[in-house]
Amino acid sequence: MAMLGFYGGTFDPIHQGHLQSVLYVQQYCQLDRLELIPCHLPPHRTHPGVSSEHRAEMVRLAIAPYPQLALNLLELAKNSPSYTVETMELLRAQYPNDTLLFVIGMDSLTQFHRWFRYRDILKLCHLLVCQRPGYQPESIETKALLAEHQLAAVSDLHSNTQGGILILPNPMLDVSATAIRKSLQQSANIQSHPQQSHRLQIEAVQAYILEHQLYQV
Ligand code: ATP
Repeated sequence: MAMLGFYGGTFDPIHQGHLQSVLYVQQYCQLDRLELIPCHLPPHRTHPGVSSEHRAEMVRLAIAPYPQLALNLLELAKNSPSYTVETMELLRAQYPNDTLLFVIGMDSLTQFHRWFRYRDILKLCHLLVCQRPGYQPESIETKALLAEHQLAAVSDLHSNTQGGILILPNPMLDVSATAIRKSLQQSANIQSHPQQSHRLQIEAVQAYILEHQLYQV
């Protein structure tokens, strides 16, 4: 039985916070494979010139050095926004007997009770939660969810193929795609040297952004 991890996100653009999280999760939980699934951007989040193809290509470049990571285009192939529960239903049909894990940041866990059919997501996979600076599981809803589903240790992931929530002791990186976009816009505005943009960008992604002049407006 394999342990398969999936990491959904807008990746607009992918940054070191994402990359360090998945590398840590893959190793800490000894996953057989971990796939990154770029999602469709809802219209109000679209940035001029940054198509789904660009976001997926940046993910491809970022993970190229790591054979344990893969790009999964299933949400983009659908050509319309997908809910996580629908994506996990497709993956569960593809891997009926394996342990499936969906990786999220702590900010996402604090909103998880608002996700469409969130209880069904936990019937399809475990949740692996990476800590993120500034976010704590402190709301009543998140505490209730943890009381019901939290696992104490990685070894607990093996006792069931879905249904648990494991909070990981990962090293935290204070970075967001929003901060990266802001820094890219600022450096474009003042025409400073590209090397001065955000230090938590990924080098190959930074080169791609400059080549295609993304996030300049
Ligand atoms: P934005 O700033 O545009 O909202 P983001 O950097 O939060 O973007 P997304 O691509 O929307 O990134 O997030 C994908 C997943 O990565 C989410 O589950 C989010 O919680 C997680 N994530 C993003 N940044 C970090 C970080 N610095 N540490 C841990 N998890 C993170």
